[in-house]
Amino acid sequence: MDVSFWQKDLETIERQPLKKLQLKLLRETVDFALKTPFYKSRLHKVAITSSDDIKSLEDLKKIPFTTKDDLREGYPYGHLAVDLGDVVRIHTSSGTTGIPTVIYHTKSDLDNWTDLVARSIVATGATKKDIFQNMMSYGLFTGGLGLHYGAERVGLTIIPAGPGNTKRQMQLMKDFRTTLIHITPSYLLHIGSKLEEFGFSLKDFVLKKAYCGAEPYSGNTRKKLEKSFGIDVYNSYGLSEMNGPGVSFECVNKCGMHTWEDAYIMEVIDPKTGKNLGEEKEGELVFTTLRRRATPILRYRTRDLAFIYKGTCRCKRTHRRISRITGRSDDMLIVNGVNVFPSQIEEVIMKIPEVGNNYQVYLEKEGALDKLTVKVEIYSKMFTGDLLQLDSLKEKIINELRAAIILTPAVELHEPGVLPVSEGKAKRVADNRQKI
Ligand code: ADP
Ligand code: ZN
Repeated sequence: MDVSFWQKDLETIERQPLKKLQLKLLRETVDFALKTPFYKSRLHKVAITSSDDIKSLEDLKKIPFTTKDDLREGYPYGHLAVDLGDVVRIHTSSGTTGIPTVIYHTKSDLDNWTDLVARSIVATGATKKDIFQNMMSYGLFTGGLGLHYGAERVGLTIIPAGPGNTKRQMQLMKDFRTTLIHITPSYLLHIGSKLEEFGFSLKDFVLKKAYCGAEPYSGNTRKKLEKSFGIDVYNSYGLSEMNGPGVSFECVNKCGMHTWEDAYIMEVIDPKTGKNLGEEKEGELVFTTLRRRATPILRYRTRDLAFIYKGTCRCKRTHRRISRITGRSDDMLIVNGVNVFPSQIEEVIMKIPEVGNNYQVYLEKEGALDKLTVKVEIYSKMFTGDLLQLDSLKEKIINELRAAIILTPAVELHEPGVLPVSEGKAKRVADNRQKI
């Protein structure tokens, strides 16, 4: 077996046969979707009553988008397309933006998902020799179990640590000689800031790689993590509605995330008009499941913003790559009329060398106006009592932010460990403008 691929034929399939396969799987998916009352009524309205009405991939455009609210309305069993007896597991989204959505899986659904994760792991160059500490949460959230089963299939040695208990994580990493971790980028930053306090140093570890995902993070945050730990950080994207991790993953070349297009049809649309934007233009990602039986989902609007790269990757995988997720279309902040994404702020501050591992974007009302404060932790060595030095650092951060976001924010400098930390998805924005 070629060790650098998991399912070589599928991963390197030419585009034309891939499209043919997509059409076949789309037609099957539509037939399964029609078994749910939700899609039956949706699709009948646009004159799709069986897969015979899908003659080419172009016909996908006839299908209306599915939103998170549509899925929520089906809670708890409204989107089930198979007998409940054939469902072997249920997962939900983490509920970052409200009531969670539920996804049911048959045995074959889980089997396919596991192969997608296995492919992703192998694409990063990991092998059965790796010791894999999974610091994502196990349970209804898909991050933990998703990577777990993929890693098990490839044969890695798994330490199912889950998140939290930072000191114990470090001890496990040291004692078992962990080479690979799966973790949110904010928690990895946090671990970096706690090493010394817990009596560890980088020399105690043999870490080589980290899979970071579940929340947006900037290219500069990746660089910072790679430099401070001396490792490779691979971006991993997924969402429970599309199984979880293993939707899009970076390969060894780290130049965008391959989306497994034999399992998902991927579109990028203008979030306002719904118009397809093709490649190289940033918009909202929309996915259609192709291999899922229990919960088929057609044209799901993720609200995640990214673009599709043009061209092929050196790794020979033919599946197209997406950029880093810059945020969700619904986490755009409007501050005194100006649109700001938290990711723009992160990109700026994380390239400033004095800035430490945590930050928070804080919004409040000041009279009729919005006040934006960026709270930044900086390294403790900066607190020497030299106030002039701190003032000039603050000025520098304000100026760089102003250039990027057009607004002039207030900036607060804090010592490490002061701002709230999260072991799961970070909550970077505190918006107190509605509160009295
Ligand atoms: P919820 O929507 O409740 O957060 P999920 O647990 O399914 O539910 O999380 C999926 C979401 O997490 C994605 O839609 C995306 O917004 C975010 N996400 C996952 N991986 C990444 C990543 N690598 N970069 C940025 N955001 C990510
Ligand atoms: Zn590649």
